Amino acid sequence: MDRRAFVSSLLAGGVAVAAGEVEKEKPVAGADDAAKVLSEHKIAKIEARKLQDRFPRFVGRNCKGNPTGTGASFQVRTLTTDKGASGWGMSWVPDDQVAKFAGARVGDLFDVAQGTCEEARNLLDFVLHDLAGNILGKPVYALLGSKGPKEVPVYSGAIYFDDIEPPGKPRGVPGVVASCQQDYEAGYRAFKLKIGRGFKWIPGKPGIQRDIEVTRAVREKFPDCKVLVDANDGYTCDDFLGYVSAVADCNLYWIEEPFQEKRDDLVKLREHMAKVGCKALIAEGEGRTERADKPWKYGGYTQRHIDTLFALAKEKLVDVFLLDLGIIGFSRWRAVMPELVQAGGQASPHTWVWSPRPYYTAHVAAGLGNVVIVEGIPAHAKGVDYSAYKFDSNGAFIMPASPGFGLGLSG
Ligand SMILES: [Mg+2]
Repeated sequence: MDRRAFVSSLLAGGVAVAAGEVEKEKPVAGADDAAKVLSEHKIAKIEARKLQDRFPRFVGRNCKGNPTGTGASFQVRTLTTDKGASGWGMSWVPDDQVAKFAGARVGDLFDVAQGTCEEARNLLDFVLHDLAGNILGKPVYALLGSKGPKEVPVYSGAIYFDDIEPPGKPRGVPGVVASCQQDYEAGYRAFKLKIGRGFKWIPGKPGIQRDIEVTRAVREKFPDCKVLVDANDGYTCDDFLGYVSAVADCNLYWIEEPFQEKRDDLVKLREHMAKVGCKALIAEGEGRTERADKPWKYGGYTQRHIDTLFALAKEKLVDVFLLDLGIIGFSRWRAVMPELVQAGGQASPHTWVWSPRPYYTAHVAAGLGNVVIVEGIPAHAKGVDYSAYKFDSNGAFIMPASPGFGLGLSG
């Protein structure tokens, strides 16, 4: 079967068997047939390796933490089947936790309707999605139901306090604008500015003033781009209302975690935004102060955290849920997303800091829908081929039709 015929079969909704290279077509109709195809593969090899991300520049601090720096490392795993199919993805756990899956049938570990089985969920979720996609010849978003757009909006999440770097010779506001310019040239058309300088690094009013200057400078320089701001809970409510007034004409796209979420403060913020004409979305729920005793429908978040968010969404005080991609768990997003839709909230699963995560999240967006924009990470790890993903002129990923997550891995 040649490449064109293979792609045609995908577009026609057929399922093809991939064994390393695509060798033969085997169109099947539904989940039962997919299950049968997956069960014909047994896990023959489980391999782990470490990868190292590199950002295109040194990435500075947020309001509370030290600089992100030049890039983090992460572990990935590759699963290879007895028929030569393979898949890879992030997988943090040590080898002894996954060794038991050697010899298992892929069909016992992964179900097209449910995702990864409970036993492997916190261990090999990304890897099994990539593997199943490769075996079935489908992108992961198709396994999730193709409910979202095939062009997925993305913002650069790497615009930190580059104005105060390097400490001996800080670059000031132009330092932040230069970071935006670099990401603009890479294809991004939306930037999330870290704010909250007054919390620690430029204490008090001068820090707030710098936040305002940075916001205005980026707005002015990039009139065709979305501007998002994220304060990592570093403001008081009153100070934040002052900031909103000072940037009311900047057409902010979203406001993330302005202060520790409290219902009454969010009510004040909503009222103030209406008064000054700020139409930004309010995004909340990334930070967690406590962990669930054991993973449940919402993964590692506590029931209390989730209840608080839903209560705020019910009052229209939160528009976007920032629940983390991995703390929820990739498979669990299938069940979580309909609940968000029901509550009238959109999602933007938190992805920072490892480079594969925005691509995984883009599949959630294209597969399950209801994702307003994806947090992009302009880092690359040696050995990973990201080239299947291109930006359109509006800064959206054009989702590749390649099987699995569409990310290559080489030596
Ligand atoms: Mg954040």
